[in-house]
Amino acid sequence: MVRNAQEIWFAEKVRRAGFADAGAFAAHFQLKPYRLEQIYRAAAKELAENIAAVTPLPKELRTQLEASGFRFDSVAPVVMQRSNDGQTSKGLFRLTDGAEIEAVLMEHFGNRNTVCISSQAGCAFACAFCSTGQAGFTRNLTADEIFDQARYFARELAAKGKRITNIVFMGMGEPFHNYDAVMKAVALLHDPHGLGLGHRHITISTVGLVDKIDRFAGEHVQVNLAISLHAPNDAVRSAMMPVNRKFSLEEVMAACERYIAKTNRKIFFEYVMLRDVNDSEENARELAALMRGHLYHVNLIPYNTTPGASYAGTDQEKIWRFAGILEAAGVPVTVRQNMGRDIAAACGQLRSESQPKAGESVSAPHKGRSVSVT
Ligand code: SAH
Repeated sequence: MVRNAQEIWFAEKVRRAGFADAGAFAAHFQLKPYRLEQIYRAAAKELAENIAAVTPLPKELRTQLEASGFRFDSVAPVVMQRSNDGQTSKGLFRLTDGAEIEAVLMEHFGNRNTVCISSQAGCAFACAFCSTGQAGFTRNLTADEIFDQARYFARELAAKGKRITNIVFMGMGEPFHNYDAVMKAVALLHDPHGLGLGHRHITISTVGLVDKIDRFAGEHVQVNLAISLHAPNDAVRSAMMPVNRKFSLEEVMAACERYIAKTNRKIFFEYVMLRDVNDSEENARELAALMRGHLYHVNLIPYNTTPGASYAGTDQEKIWRFAGILEAAGVPVTVRQNMGRDIAAACGQLRSESQPKAGESVSAPHKGRSVSVT
């Protein structure tokens, strides 16, 4: 596993510097295996700022590596916003080809530090209420581009003597649409010679790609699975999530049952509360009927309004009533705390607001502080 994570990390980084693979890279710089390990650990575990800061390496080697274009980071912060309460930091990052993605750090009163990362630039699934979905698909991220979002916030936290406790794949993109890179990123995040995050502290969220849910069930990893359900019947779900026309609710729920039978692991069902769309008491009863036991857990999500969207959020009181109906039916339910609303921290919102002027501060309609990083 260790070797594997290190190989994953080097693969794209050396390619960006113009080498065919890690072997060619090592041969070019005459790097012995322990040197490769040193470099990987400096970046992934010790969180060194860059290659120049890795003082155990000979200075000349550091200079040569820098000159070759070899870099620790594949994502560069462009805009960083912090919510007024200081608990949420949201970053817009630029990839080496100019594509842009978002990642968010949520510091829950200091005891839990969750980083929400992107798996793709854009998204191909076009969920009607999601601003990433509305903007379309750009490209898949590589495993190290996914990992480097976590590295960025791990460094920020380390400066305060803290560490990442949880990772959620709830940023831009559909993780199961970029399955292999996401599983490689999980290996990187998990590697004890790197960030060392426990599988149970990682959550993958999907629109419900049935074939990939089945594949994931066979991975034998304890990574959490979350399904973006958002509707309790096909009519409502298809109207807001085009993917439902490919995989119906019944097929998604059947895949969930197979997953639970195989893994005995809990599934989190995300349900964003949209006013007069999916929030009636009847909808709550329909949803309760789909949830078949203690391993089915519903997360009700207050909607983060996006500019130009035709949806409105359900008010708090009605969300609690909806939760009450689920609870009365014996369904485990959590109402998700909304964080970073003042900085547009929902999926895809920062990018859609900053374009076409990415690189400038986007403080305009927000109350939160906003810092332009470049
Ligand atoms: N493609 C994956 C992960 C990305 S989004 C998925 O669909 O699960 C992570 C979660 O945020 C999803 O449940 C998504 O539906 C939800 N989401 C997107 N836009 C939102 C918004 N404006 N307000 C609240 N939740 C939103």
